[in-house]
Amino acid sequence: MAMSAWDRPWCASLTTENLGQEIEVVGWVRRRRDLGGLVFVDLRDRTGIVQLVFETEMISDGEKLSSEDVLKIQGTVRKRADGQANSDLPTGEIEIRVSACDVLTQAETPPFVVEDDTNASEELRLKHRALDLRRPVMASNLVLRHRVVAEARRFFDEMEFLEVETPILTKSTPEGARDFLVPSRVHKGEFYALPQSPQLFKQMLQVAGIGRYVQIARCFRDEDLRADRQPEFTQIDVEASFITEEDIYLLIEGLFGRIFPMMGIDPPETFPRLSYRECMERFGSDRPDTRFGLELVELGPLCEGCGFRVLESAAEEGRVKGILVPGGAALSRKQLDGLTEFVKPYGAAGVLWFKLTGEGITSPAKKVLGEDGCRRFLEAAGAGEGDLLLVIGASENVVFSALGALRVHLGGERKLIPDGRHDFLWVTDFPLLEYSADAGRFFAMHHPFTAPLPEDEALMETDPGAVRARAYDVVMDGVELGGGSIRIHRADTQRRMFAALGIDGAEAEERFGFLLEAFRYGVPPHGGIALGLDRMIMLMAGRDSIRDVIAFPKTTSASCLLTDAPSGVDALQLKELGLKI
Ligand code: ASP
Repeated sequence: MAMSAWDRPWCASLTTENLGQEIEVVGWVRRRRDLGGLVFVDLRDRTGIVQLVFETEMISDGEKLSSEDVLKIQGTVRKRADGQANSDLPTGEIEIRVSACDVLTQAETPPFVVEDDTNASEELRLKHRALDLRRPVMASNLVLRHRVVAEARRFFDEMEFLEVETPILTKSTPEGARDFLVPSRVHKGEFYALPQSPQLFKQMLQVAGIGRYVQIARCFRDEDLRADRQPEFTQIDVEASFITEEDIYLLIEGLFGRIFPMMGIDPPETFPRLSYRECMERFGSDRPDTRFGLELVELGPLCEGCGFRVLESAAEEGRVKGILVPGGAALSRKQLDGLTEFVKPYGAAGVLWFKLTGEGITSPAKKVLGEDGCRRFLEAAGAGEGDLLLVIGASENVVFSALGALRVHLGGERKLIPDGRHDFLWVTDFPLLEYSADAGRFFAMHHPFTAPLPEDEALMETDPGAVRARAYDVVMDGVELGGGSIRIHRADTQRRMFAALGIDGAEAEERFGFLLEAFRYGVPPHGGIALGLDRMIMLMAGRDSIRDVIAFPKTTSASCLLTDAPSGVDALQLKELGLKI
């Protein structure tokens, strides 16, 4: 009864529709139970499990099996005995009565039990990744990832985009993170850079007339890692010609409308749009989580001449804003001290608090501001009885980042995010340039090919910090899923952008010469976007770590526990490359 491998059913595909069929299945032993006169075995493949029964003359075969042995079995699909059906499993009503069992390989005792519920450390899981990926929850993340990519490819194909591959061994790209370098053997002392994104090539493809480009592209950035960052990651990278921001919004809203419903998430047909400025003022973040309130309130004007020096000077030299926490007056002194500790890493000295209760107002500022002074702050924030007002005064950057983080922290802690709610939005009108006091110059907030808003172009020399960009980010539930921009296509604007960034002609030539050269012979207006695939899958799968949706990820110290990369190389290899360590 040998079957072609391609006709063989997956374990979890068998249902009552297969009753009576003689079939062959393959998989790994998840668990064996001996019931005297019967042996039950759960057989697992990437789709899930099916129950095998070894009876009569097959019992001794069943008794020999242990976890993770690899089997090929033949048998008949039958209904489980009364009272034995398991409605939690797709195959829960059936079992296979085994008539032949071929143990293809025997497994040693694995270092952890292969089950969704595991208490194995992540280190152990990464080291034994093949076992880890055998866990159904991990396999289902890979399935989801595949389905999303397949659907995205279908979508872009329908939209007449071409998938074009771009080089991995290349030159530094303009995203501005640290590069990974690869030494050249042929050109000793010279290096390739791994691409931080296909940015220059996708623009080049527009000059080449491709018009609509997409790539599931691997990108490399040598940055400090966090839970949602990896040194190599995947983008759905998009670029198109003769388009505006509106076309990008339409495209990505269309794509999300195809992808997210796979996990029962229905994005709206059009996403709300918020300007960067509005995001910062209301949420203290350029990737706001709008699923709950706790918006920032303006308190600056109240501080003038209020008598509290710290607030007065913060309002004068920086900003004073607050968050009203409904019902927050119940927070203990210790909890409030905890909030001060929470904001310190963001550069704030602490949080000033005001409580309004039935007994009146309490606040550490009461001695200086008096009851009335305090009341003015609470009233400005719209406080009612039982509420708490948290205030930070500092430089604008610190106020935004500290209150932005505090808001997200409180939203989570106070369970303010309604179950099952998902918010999608566009952030628009980013600043074109960002001033770095450390470096004493402006940097491109996105990258140097991002176009300024036409109405702000005149400010590029006089007030560079005030110029807004034709850049946009797409945000879901407080997570940036992607970003892009309409690009500069005029040589004079590009020159002014380089000048604002302090990049002279020679440097521009050295870094981006090949693109600028191509631009001389007819460049179409163009723009694009890149979506972070790993993050998107992480959100869709409801996971907290990006590592759970990448087959072979690196740890937060950028090493691969499976292969032990990075690792030393032998002396001969170094010599061939002309390198000394
Ligand atoms: N290359 C940009 C990035 O990776 C995205 C874009 O501008 O299309 O952030």
